[in-house]
Amino acid sequence: MSKPIVAIVGRPNVGKSTLFNVLAGEKISIVKDTPGVTRDRIYADVSWLNYDFTVIDTGGLEPETNDEILKHMRTQADIAIDTADVIVFVVDLKQGLVDNDFKVADILRRANKPVLLAVNKVDNFEKYQLDVYEFFNLGLGDPIPVSSASKLGIGDMLDQVVEHFNENAKEDEEEETPKIAIIGKPNVGKSSLINKILGENRVIVSDMAGTTRDAIDTMVKYDHKEYIFIDTAGLRRKSKIKEELERYSIIRTVTAIEKADVAVLMIDAVEGITEQDAKIAGIAHERGKGIIVAVNKWDAIEKDNKTMKNFMADIDTKLSYMLYAPKIFISAETGQRLNSLFEMIEMVLQNQALRVGTGVLNDILYEATALKQPPSDKGRRLRIYYITQVSIKPPTFVLFVNDKELMHFSYTRYIENKIRETFGFKGTPIHFITRERK
Ligand code: GDP
Ligand code: GDP
Repeated sequence: MSKPIVAIVGRPNVGKSTLFNVLAGEKISIVKDTPGVTRDRIYADVSWLNYDFTVIDTGGLEPETNDEILKHMRTQADIAIDTADVIVFVVDLKQGLVDNDFKVADILRRANKPVLLAVNKVDNFEKYQLDVYEFFNLGLGDPIPVSSASKLGIGDMLDQVVEHFNENAKEDEEEETPKIAIIGKPNVGKSSLINKILGENRVIVSDMAGTTRDAIDTMVKYDHKEYIFIDTAGLRRKSKIKEELERYSIIRTVTAIEKADVAVLMIDAVEGITEQDAKIAGIAHERGKGIIVAVNKWDAIEKDNKTMKNFMADIDTKLSYMLYAPKIFISAETGQRLNSLFEMIEMVLQNQALRVGTGVLNDILYEATALKQPPSDKGRRLRIYYITQVSIKPPTFVLFVNDKELMHFSYTRYIENKIRETFGFKGTPIHFITRERK
């Protein structure tokens, strides 16, 4: 169910960003109208053949000295090994093989992950064929010649990337244990929450077999049900560079959310809701996963009978695109409302998988359009013929209309609200696809 993650790793200037941009095409994964989300292209959604996956660019920084470069590449390789299903190691034909390439290849080879070796800047396949063979020496298998600038060899490379997805996909299908990502900025209490859950009597812990060296997924049994908790706090990069830390924190968040069914977004009650919270919330929202907003450290603030209400209002204002997310006020330290958190997770899981019959959907549509006329433009009025739910996780609806251009997002929002009035879909975004039927 979860989308595979492909990470791009390599020295500065080998062409990682160029390759990333070719793969991302126009489909930048960051939704424009989600406030708080930067336009920095760290990750992007890609489709190839019948596969959808997320590509992350682990690069970003431009270190200067050779030592710095190696350190940076090691961190990149680590983060790729931690998060990715397939790693694409990019080297540069023009610069040839350098010492740092061998060192990174050593790290990647030891990881238990598929690694593809892309030799970039092969702008002429015939002319440079022999030069590409040199890269065999890295011990990472057949080098794949590509030219990101001329968009050559990209398809062949992607064929090899998606080949590795099948191995994992089979395991995934059997596995139906719900996955919960605990997300949030540093120090909100992510580790404390996981530790509290593990420490509770009713919870039985077992380490998951077969995970890579940094085991961050934890199986938890609660009230006779099993859950896998994905802890984004487990990995703390030691980098002192702010941009680098920020980049890794975003990559960790994106990849954890991608693997999860429900994300629990933790907010620090003492600090209130900040821009960084909104940024992380935005990522969860646009990935279509279930979301719960958990205000933590509720034990640590002075409260009166308005505190909770005011906090709720503040969240609604700052995360106005996520009004569907239920809110809960917890303490990872005292364990306050842990029970309710699990009940909420159950509810959101059910809502993510809720299917609504076509008959009743069209009744709602009929009533909605009668109450409020669809928009019109230059004398032409939008007509919505039919609505049907096509998928779950997130619940996705197709609207058949006379003219897509006439569909205004505010009217989609209106229909969304009408559907929510009846079915709630609490805790899950719902998606709409508009199709023309002449
Ligand atoms: P990054 O630092 O690894 O992200 O590298 P960039 O994507 O910024 O590219 C570094 C330089 O290599 C830029 O000047 C690109 O235009 C150039 N470049 C990237 N891909 C190719 C390619 O396939 N062929 C050639 N000749 N140049 C390329
Ligand atoms: P993480 O970086 O998100 O994993 O945050 P930690 O779990 O490491 O917590 C950061 C700090 O907040 C630690 O000093 C915790 O003791 C403290 N903390 C976490 N949860 C609570 C809570 O519910 N109440 C209070 N008062 N402190 C908390």
